[in-house]
Amino acid sequence: MSDRKPAFETQQIHAGARPDPATGARQTPIYQTTAYVFRDADHAAKLFNLQEVGYIYSRLTNPTVAVLQERIATLEGGVGAVCCSSGHAAQIMALFPLMGPGCNVVVSTRLYGGTITQFSQTIKRFGWSATFVDFDDTAAIEAAADDNTRAIFCESICNPGGYVTDIPAVAEIANRIGVPLIVDNTSATPYLCRPFEQGAHLVVHSTTKYLTGNGTVTGGCVVDSGSFDWSASDKFPSLSAPEPAYHGLKFHETFGPMAFTFHGIAIGLRDLGMTMAPQTAFQTLLGIETLSLRMERHVENAVKVAKWLEADPRVEAVTYAGLASSPYRERVERLYPRGAGALFTFALKGGYDACVKLVDSVELFSHVANLGDTRSLIIHSASTTHRQLNEAQQQAAGAGPNVVRLSIGIEHIDDIIADLDQAMTKATA
Ligand SMILES: *Cc1c(COP(=O)(O)O)cnc(C)c1O
Repeated sequence: MSDRKPAFETQQIHAGARPDPATGARQTPIYQTTAYVFRDADHAAKLFNLQEVGYIYSRLTNPTVAVLQERIATLEGGVGAVCCSSGHAAQIMALFPLMGPGCNVVVSTRLYGGTITQFSQTIKRFGWSATFVDFDDTAAIEAAADDNTRAIFCESICNPGGYVTDIPAVAEIANRIGVPLIVDNTSATPYLCRPFEQGAHLVVHSTTKYLTGNGTVTGGCVVDSGSFDWSASDKFPSLSAPEPAYHGLKFHETFGPMAFTFHGIAIGLRDLGMTMAPQTAFQTLLGIETLSLRMERHVENAVKVAKWLEADPRVEAVTYAGLASSPYRERVERLYPRGAGALFTFALKGGYDACVKLVDSVELFSHVANLGDTRSLIIHSASTTHRQLNEAQQQAAGAGPNVVRLSIGIEHIDDIIADLDQAMTKATA
């Protein structure tokens, strides 16, 4: 092999995988085992001391999951990744080494509804808190940070509105205040957005969505760029100070740029136990093989649907950032040159009642709480995924009562538009 760095399309098929050393199997086998036989007592002791890297128990590491971790880390341009049981688990796994009681994270108001609930309610039980701000107002992000801030968190392309974040502008603030920027790259995928190249330090994914791509398994992943200096301040003792659970080992000093990844496995998965199953990793590996092809078609179809909706007199507004009329057009051209994804909302004339009738009238579209499937999906966010929020939070998140969210699939464009057309006719009759 030459030193040539393979392109994304090649890496999405090959990164992390090699013919199975035991059998030569070309496709990555599902290592359906909980434990691994130690060579001898000394080998076992070294593994448990983190003096040697290897397999102990599948709550921590598994060879099928390891291939997926390397695949996603490679596609994101990171140094390491830890897979876990869901996107929500990945968010906790990403914050866990950074936070402690009394610490806070500054987050965008434009987030997946479940994430808004996790951050505004559930993390309080750990003594953590989140401060929500409009990420178009960079001065407000900086003003929201204080001495107890340990991270900044946003989505690249935001669920549900399709709003796009200016990651370099937010990363600049993160660097200035000395905390990592975590980007949820679920809706964009590394094919449309590579947050590390724009200055982010950590990436989280719900692999449930586009990475798997076919609506079969839930999973999550935390990816580390390896670029954050955990020892530059005393803010991150889990990574920089002696770890009592490993005889005083210092993760950053010992593992360098791999500190966050090793901590995620050796502490995060070991003690929180939010592990991805090997069968899940296998399904997601199959999906990732076609990621670039699917994303190209998702985007192509989304542009056509958004343009068609924008020109339709039954429609009040379309949020798609990929439209020429979008206020985010310049940002998309600069930061998301391959397109603004396939997720957006639109407002139908007739408000809430028309929206509810619309989701009840679709035939090809599926009315489900998911996104990033090959199938076209529709949901009325305000009455479902963003139901736990008050109306001000819904509006700030781009999920007001008068809009429906579309996740445009890769079916034939004529069939997608025909279905929306017939359902809109019924909804606005
Ligand atoms: C779905 C989703 C999540 C949560 O992921 P799960 O796999 O459902 O836990 C987080 N962020 C975004 C942007 C999502 O779309």
